[in-house]
Amino acid sequence: MDCKESKEAMGLYVVGALALDEVRELEEHIEHCPTCKVERAADEQAYALLPFALDGPSPPASARRALLDRLEEERSTRRVEARGLNFLLRPAFAYVLLALTVLAIALVGFQEHQRYSRQIAAARAEIDTLRSQIDLTQAQLALIQAPDTTVLNLAGQPVHPEAVGKLFWNKSRKIWLVYIFQLPAPPSGKAYELWFLTRKNPVQAGMISSDSQGNGFAQISIPEGVEPISAAVSLEPEQGVSAPTGAIYLAGT
Ligand SMILES: [Zn+2]
Repeated sequence: MDCKESKEAMGLYVVGALALDEVRELEEHIEHCPTCKVERAADEQAYALLPFALDGPSPPASARRALLDRLEEERSTRRVEARGLNFLLRPAFAYVLLALTVLAIALVGFQEHQRYSRQIAAARAEIDTLRSQIDLTQAQLALIQAPDTTVLNLAGQPVHPEAVGKLFWNKSRKIWLVYIFQLPAPPSGKAYELWFLTRKNPVQAGMISSDSQGNGFAQISIPEGVEPISAAVSLEPEQGVSAPTGAIYLAGT
């Protein structure tokens, strides 16, 4: 094998597409030819850099540039060499370029596909979240607008008069929608608890959490056998208690 044949075979060699006997001939030639040894090192490097040329995570710009320069250089070199020669006699490098291009396109396509798949999945999750928020809001609105829903105002008590609450009470479905406003942030280990005030003892209705502005919301189902006549909110240990022990912050008027 001479240098010309060696150069032609090199492209296929670095991508591992050269026949075994040709590999042996090529390696024998390279063993004794410093020029072709350099050529092989350069081709192997260009091939190794191929993944960096794609749109992966933070590809080094220099590596990408080097590969593109290399491919361009190869292309122009081959074009010059092809002049005056029968181009069909030297198709090996054209095949390698084609193979590399197809491989690059396939990898880019795959990565683009992965990226769009991720974006679509994220967008779908967001749509699902928004949809369930809309469903919840519409259900609340329908309950508030129902003809058999009454409003109970909750007034701030002496411990924190600025606090306000509004309770929408649907009698037929026995549901309370409770909105609280301007409650102070509960101290560590404490939380606000809502009570059904009945003709007998207060009955636990559930915990109601508040945001950084002291506003909060809870949807409460009134259990069978409980006949509330009003509501109250008190500050209790955060796990909740079965009878009120702490200060009353809001009470039905
Ligand atoms: Zn050589």
